[in-house]
Amino acid sequence: MSNIPDWPLVLPNDYGIRPAGAPDACFYCNSKVGQPHGAECTVVDKKVRVRFSFDLELSVPHWWTPADIEYHYGQSSWCANNAMDHLQEIVDSDDCLCSIFNSAFIEVTDNTPFVEPRPESWDADNKAQDIKDNLPRWEPPPMALMMLITEEVPDPEDKDED
Ligand SMILES: [Zn+2]
Repeated sequence: MSNIPDWPLVLPNDYGIRPAGAPDACFYCNSKVGQPHGAECTVVDKKVRVRFSFDLELSVPHWWTPADIEYHYGQSSWCANNAMDHLQEIVDSDDCLCSIFNSAFIEVTDNTPFVEPRPESWDADNKAQDIKDNLPRWEPPPMALMMLITEEVPDPEDKDED
């Protein structure tokens, strides 16, 4: 449990309730529905500001000075959404962005603990994924069963309709 007031309680439709886990407890911290999540439960979030930066190699007019380049990408009408095209180009060429990427923590913008409400589609999507993740490992059937399986099974479509 945490000492922070208003620490989120486990809700019946909480992200922490996973179809593969107990229906009445957080899968991650084991707290029951109605009880506070654990102090280090992974579904309890806070808001932070993180700087993402990418060092891109771009083509610019040859005569541009560093000040021209900074003006173009800083104060001119150039929209930063255009940066997405440059990043997408790299992703599309099957390269990943990691070698040109940097991140830096700036500040906590809101320390209020919260649990992200899960979208409506979450249940169905995660039920399917959890079922897949928890399928028993495939084992080859014993020889006797193999023989049963390979025996010819009459096709109901070929049945005499008389
Ligand atoms: Zn929890």
